Amino acid sequence: YSAKSDRNRFQFFRRKFSQQETKRRLVEKKLKVAIAERHLHLFFQPRVDMNSGKIHSVEALCRWDDPETGSIPPNIFIPIAEETGLIHELSQLVMQMVCQQLVDWHNTGIDVPIALNLSVKDLKYFDLVQNLGVIINQYGVSGKMLEIEVTESAAMTDVVNSVKVLNQLQEFGIKVSIDDFGKGYSSLAYLSQLPVDNLKIDKYFVSRLSPNFKDHMINHNIIKTIVSLAQSLNLKTVAEGIETPNQYNILKALGCQMGQGMFFYHPMPADQLAKLLQREARLAKNTVNQ
Ligand code: C2E
Ligand code: MG
Ligand code: MG
Ligand code: MG
Repeated sequence: YSAKSDRNRFQFFRRKFSQQETKRRLVEKKLKVAIAERHLHLFFQPRVDMNSGKIHSVEALCRWDDPETGSIPPNIFIPIAEETGLIHELSQLVMQMVCQQLVDWHNTGIDVPIALNLSVKDLKYFDLVQNLGVIINQYGVSGKMLEIEVTESAAMTDVVNSVKVLNQLQEFGIKVSIDDFGKGYSSLAYLSQLPVDNLKIDKYFVSRLSPNFKDHMINHNIIKTIVSLAQSLNLKTVAEGIETPNQYNILKALGCQMGQGMFFYHPMPADQLAKLLQREARLAKNTVNQ
């Protein structure tokens, strides 16, 4: 342990830090342009009824394909958008794209509710409810066709404010889901106060249901507990990240009502989803006619 090696280490961290800083600033600059020029688009992942296997609704997931860097995942750009305040413009754009999509699908005979993700910063943003109200009216869509997903930690950050905002959203007929449930640390007292419709069980628990995980029985029991908690609060449960038939079977047996994941469908572009729903509708019609 020498002063010199300390100095070297410091230099190393400083270089590394400034590299990260440069990269972050670059992403921020590019993201600003991408939002302004509407270079973001949405993918849609079906949410499936666990018993019938039918598509109940879809979740809108933001995608960003940068011409130079290629595709940048939301786990990278959403936190940067939150730190820099760009999240408001991003969410505004997502709300518009979601409503436009509802209109476009409706015009081709498809009506499927869309869930969109909002960040903790959006909940704190005093214009959110009013903005969304204006957008809904502009596009002429019903609040019943929309759902908002907020993470557990976001909803718990300022419970008084969350209760107020989520209540106002529900007055539009919008459903509310708590995303990534079980990952943050919820106060059960607060959870019962929050005006929500669904709990989305975090994919961490779902992924560890496979018997090759030492703690798979613990995860099994945690999910069982979440489902019974949801039942006693009159909420529905949605499991995210279902990848295997085994996970699907366990979740179904535990009474989880809905599921999402690659076992059913990957997130997909709007036109592909439209084809899927049209095929589903044709199949249903054929079954009825038989
Ligand atoms: P989330 O809302 O929890 O979304 C679920 C994530 O799981 C998505 O990642 C989805 O593609 C992924 N996923 C779907 N099926 C499976 C599966 O079977 N296994 C696994 N391991 N993962 C699966 P994605 O699209 O990369 O989004 C990541 C996160 O970024 C989202 O997590 C959400 O928190 C955030 N996000 C995405 N779009 C938006 C947006 O428009 N606004 C905001 N505020 N956040 C967004
Ligand atoms: Mg979500
Ligand atoms: Mg989630
Ligand atoms: Mg997540």
